[in-house]
Amino acid sequence: MKLKKAIAVVIAAVTVFMFCSCETINDFFENDLKVESGLDEGNLISYYIDVGQGDSEFIIFPDGKTMLIDAGTREGGEQVIKLINKLGCKKIDFLIATHPHSDHIGGLADVIKEFDVDKIYMPKAVTQTKTYEYLLQTIQNKNKKIKTAKAGMNITNSDEFDYSADILSPVSDSYEDLNNYSAVVMIRFKNKKFLYMGDAEKQVENELLENKTDVNADVVKVGHHGSRTASTAKFLKAVGAKYAVFSLGKDNDYGHPHKQTIARWEKTGAEMYRTDQKGTITISTDGDSIKVETEK
Ligand SMILES: [Zn+2]
Repeated sequence: MKLKKAIAVVIAAVTVFMFCSCETINDFFENDLKVESGLDEGNLISYYIDVGQGDSEFIIFPDGKTMLIDAGTREGGEQVIKLINKLGCKKIDFLIATHPHSDHIGGLADVIKEFDVDKIYMPKAVTQTKTYEYLLQTIQNKNKKIKTAKAGMNITNSDEFDYSADILSPVSDSYEDLNNYSAVVMIRFKNKKFLYMGDAEKQVENELLENKTDVNADVVKVGHHGSRTASTAKFLKAVGAKYAVFSLGKDNDYGHPHKQTIARWEKTGAEMYRTDQKGTITISTDGDSIKVETEK
């Protein structure tokens, strides 16, 4: 390589490194992210991390910005940290705690300590657990403020890369069940859409349908670990997903996923993937086609 060209590459690499959350500087060198996942630069990538019984999704946007939705239990958080480090990401631009149950927020405090986190979103659902208090304390120690997750909120969008991320729920101010406070997130990249349901149940699904919220998506992170209390036939029809991801642990105490839920999903004809069977599931899109890769 001529010296001038080499300098140009280094300058370009450093520029990219400065602006992106993920270490795309590696794109100029032999990089194990590409080798491992076979994914192309400029795609939207969604990792459904195997955190045992719990939930955690890490999303890399086409411009390198990143989002983390939940981080499983405290033990699950270790898996989340491991994956983000492996991907060479240093910063989480958008962190979403769907609702304050320990199988979703248990690992978040350690993640927040480990990485540079920009915006944090949580629904206004208060609970008195040690896990929740520890999370709030950790956020405060980092001098961060929490944005209240609410239906109709735009988290981010890019005209240049043609993507957006919005919060569809919570619709109401209060719910009886903490699960229904779940921040429901819709991410769009060009013609493809990814829906993340948290632990939202039937009540929220009905609210979304009543409000005529556009829930149509290609890929969905199934609500509440495949519990029978979520995934009504009517809702699944409105979503019309081709890929359904279940996040849960093997032989869990709740009997997730429930048989009825699996049957309802089967009827839709969607391809189903389970983290208890497949490990971490990676779904990527160039905006037109979708690719699924699994750990096992
Ligand atoms: Zn849960």
